[in-house]
Amino acid sequence: MNTHTDLFHIDNDNNEDWKPFRSLRDWCQSCRMLLVMLIAVAAVLGASTNSCWAQTANPAPADHPEITVHGQKFTPASILARNMGTLEDQTAQFPPHKIIGNLYYVGTRTLSSFLIVTAQGNILINTTYERNVPTIKKSVEQLGFKFSDIKVLLGTHAHNDHQEGDALVKQMTGAQVMAMAEDVPALRAMKPGGKEHPIDVTLHDRQTVGLGDTTLTAHLTAGHTHGCTTWTMKAQEGGKMYNVVIACSFRPPAILTPEVIAEFNRTFPLVRSLPCDVPLGDHTAQYRMQEKYSKLQQGVRNPFIDPAGCHYEVEIEEAMFHALLNEQRKASTH
Ligand SMILES: [Zn+2]
Repeated sequence: MNTHTDLFHIDNDNNEDWKPFRSLRDWCQSCRMLLVMLIAVAAVLGASTNSCWAQTANPAPADHPEITVHGQKFTPASILARNMGTLEDQTAQFPPHKIIGNLYYVGTRTLSSFLIVTAQGNILINTTYERNVPTIKKSVEQLGFKFSDIKVLLGTHAHNDHQEGDALVKQMTGAQVMAMAEDVPALRAMKPGGKEHPIDVTLHDRQTVGLGDTTLTAHLTAGHTHGCTTWTMKAQEGGKMYNVVIACSFRPPAILTPEVIAEFNRTFPLVRSLPCDVPLGDHTAQYRMQEKYSKLQQGVRNPFIDPAGCHYEVEIEEAMFHALLNEQRKASTH
């Protein structure tokens, strides 16, 4: 218990970063605008240094090429900004809620965490940043469940904004941590505060993970990372069974190597072929969570049952992949 409390001090440590700004505010009231600008710059830097691309040894996403999908313009940079939101969006609790059946949302405004509740214990998908673990715990408890009932810990991909908190959650719950084989090297390199990344079970494409009456299937949907994992399961509501797809990020990196190109060429058709009624993703914008949550409050029908929205994200990312590939090929012929 003491160990847990100590680890929660990570939040306080982070606050140290802001002290220079606080003192600036104290001695220079007229510099308020400058302060706001500094905070904005810090937020942008924070988002970019912590986010998905930082791990990939790839350049930062550019403001080109620009594509239009679903009547909306996207660039690599705008997709990253959409996924991450502000530093506050990455950290602030989103109201925990039931998605469908035994599946619940316990993440922040922009970083998804999903809880699956069974009679034999619970499954958590994605711990996000380690600093968010207390928030996820609070969400689990607000839904009426025990954090210590998490028996299995899964993830969508080996980037800090999705799986940095695994070691801490393992310490707190003793859950079995399972990871796709192709993501294991990147996960092993993820050591928040020097903690080793726990991996109890190595998974392979289409392997299943069962707990209670729930079975999840791990689909290798590589490209964004080599072991990017899309999880599928069935959930029951109103006497009907629905196919749930918890998608990995499909956002292509700035530099497309032959290996990554081959991965995406396999991944996009595979993702489109998955039976799907309830599309979900590891960033909330990938399935328009906030819009659907607002509809949920109106209570007409379950807005997360959205077969028409199943390919929303893959259409954006596949178009961006081809636009990047064209740009890369043109550049190499010059
Ligand atoms: Zn990522």
